[in-house]
Amino acid sequence: MDKAIQLLDVRRQYHLGSTDVNALENINLEIDQGEFVALVGPSGSGKSTLLHLLGGLDRPTSGEIYVRGLSLHTANEEELTGHRRHNTGFIFQTFNLLPTLTALENVTLPLMLGGVGIAERNQRSTQLLERVGLGDRLHHRPTELSGGEQQRAAIARALVNEPQLILADEPTGNLDSSTGADVMNLLRELNSERGVTLIVVTHDAEVAAYADRIVHLRDGQISQIETTKATPDQAELPAPAETPSNGGLSFRDLLRTSLSNLRRRPVRNVLTSAGVVIGIVTLVAMVSVGVGVQAEINRNFQALGLENVFVSPAFPEEEDAFDPFGFAEPKAPLTPDIAVAFRELPEVDSVTPVLSLPSNLEVSLTFDDQTLPLRLAGDFGRGPQGPGNLTPPEMLAGEPLGEGDTESMVLLTDLADQLLSESGGDYADLIGQMVTLTVRLPRGETRDFTTTIIGVEDDRSFYSADIGLQERTEIKIWWFGRPDTLNTDGYDMLVVRAVNQSAVPAVLDVAEGLGLEAQSLGAVLEIANRVLAVMQALLGSVGGLALLVATLGVANTMMMAIYERTREIGVLKALGARNKEVRRMFTADAVLLGFIGGVVGLILGTLLGRLVDWIGHLYLANEGVTGIGPISIVPPWLAIGSLVFAAFIGVLGGFYPATRAARLDPVVALKHE
Ligand code: ADP
Ligand code: MG
Repeated sequence: MDKAIQLLDVRRQYHLGSTDVNALENINLEIDQGEFVALVGPSGSGKSTLLHLLGGLDRPTSGEIYVRGLSLHTANEEELTGHRRHNTGFIFQTFNLLPTLTALENVTLPLMLGGVGIAERNQRSTQLLERVGLGDRLHHRPTELSGGEQQRAAIARALVNEPQLILADEPTGNLDSSTGADVMNLLRELNSERGVTLIVVTHDAEVAAYADRIVHLRDGQISQIETTKATPDQAELPAPAETPSNGGLSFRDLLRTSLSNLRRRPVRNVLTSAGVVIGIVTLVAMVSVGVGVQAEINRNFQALGLENVFVSPAFPEEEDAFDPFGFAEPKAPLTPDIAVAFRELPEVDSVTPVLSLPSNLEVSLTFDDQTLPLRLAGDFGRGPQGPGNLTPPEMLAGEPLGEGDTESMVLLTDLADQLLSESGGDYADLIGQMVTLTVRLPRGETRDFTTTIIGVEDDRSFYSADIGLQERTEIKIWWFGRPDTLNTDGYDMLVVRAVNQSAVPAVLDVAEGLGLEAQSLGAVLEIANRVLAVMQALLGSVGGLALLVATLGVANTMMMAIYERTREIGVLKALGARNKEVRRMFTADAVLLGFIGGVVGLILGTLLGRLVDWIGHLYLANEGVTGIGPISIVPPWLAIGSLVFAAFIGVLGGFYPATRAARLDPVVALKHE
């Protein structure tokens, strides 16, 4: 029969500075399947080193080690991990149960690492815990168990994967003698009951007396082998366990483990997440306001009509010395003929000429024996398409001035109220009434013009009204004394509305061909959007900077977690966790730290945006601006993007710590205090 374990000329050397320490030398040993071997010797004689070699936690410097046919001295990392996971069970002097897990969870750990489903692993673990006498302690944590009970749980954990080899390093070293005897009896029973090979390191002669053979080590060499009992009958040994499928740690278990890890250090983890929260709040609030403002601007531009083209005359370039009183004469006037030419284009829907009147114009309005001062509103031609309006006018009665060649007059609220204050009645009564406008020149001359009220518009301006193009033209002709002013001076601007947005370029081309200046709102909007995008990027990078700092926080916290959990990492590796699983576990902790911060940050950032929105609207309402949409908008891309970003912060912050954790040498990690 093949020996279960064979060691040939095994040597393990450590380098300490310039000297070599031979922890093991010339070790030749064979152990049968099902044998119970005690390794005894003084401290420093190499017992633990030998155990680590057999368990695949360490490699020999030279020599050969075979465990059930697997040559450990040549095995690669993956094979060694498989050996730890499936073939061996480790029992430690200090029990090494994970403090945050219950007895049951500790026992299920190796199964979890093997990807066994939760129902099956609980069932198998419960059975084993019952077998070692802990059936009523399943949900106790290690601190709620006595030393003997902890070691029993650790034995159950070592057995749960049904390994063929149990390696115990001074398992009774931390127990009183009667508890130690109980534990040894249990191990002995399990050894004969299950046919597992049992290798127990001890320096206690009483403990060694339980073994079939006692191997004495001294200064790294076998000094003596005692056979205390006849090797047991090996007639009925269980067949070598088939290597179970390597499911590996499942995503659900990874998540569950991470969540419980984060609960371990609540204060520290909350503080670390707070860094992410602050960054994400800033990012979400700022970008959401940027998005809201942009949407509002776009909406307003849409309302103004993106199909509008503003045509103005070309002015000669200023070549003369600066003349503060100079009155710029256009190269060519914007005449009614030009307006007609535009109107006749198939791409054009309407043309509204704009004619400004001098700002020092003194006008009064007479109606029904009342004479009131009057301010002319809307130099840029009011009405639904007028570029002076962000929103179409709201009429309280009658009609707006409309587009094209307009006439008549529209009163604004205040002036309408003044006119009605004596006569009573409502706004509708004013529609269709004739009024007289008296224009007074600076030198005192006056002239009356008559017009008709066609509408009352909701607007707060005092004593104001808007008059049609025809009235404006008449006033201007008289004011300047130039009957042909439209042909000699021309309009100030033409608002040319294309039939649709795609017809705008054609209109722009025509204007250019006529030597005129032309601008479309689309071009202005594009510039505005570009400016906003830059602003948004700037605002967003403030949040980004905060997140960079948060990354350092996550990295720092994860590094601390590694120092605290070094021994735990060693235990996990001894139980068969792969390097990449350890890396994944730590990465998952870090990602969760970032992600939770991201979720909280997203919620708070959205609320902060709402607050800005609310205050903004309050302020605007106070200033008399209404009809403004939401200032802060969190579109789906921002919500998802900020969560992904927060998780990425975790990946970034956790990368180095997780890599370090994964690379830890299991033997060194297990020795960590
Ligand atoms: P035991 O378990 O019998 O007390 P060990 O197997 O732990 O002994 O150690 C055997 C020898 O190897 C000791 O002299 C110890 O100092 C040395 N040794 C163990 N680990 C290291 C290491 N990482 N570096 C250097 N020397 C070590
Ligand atoms: Mg030791």
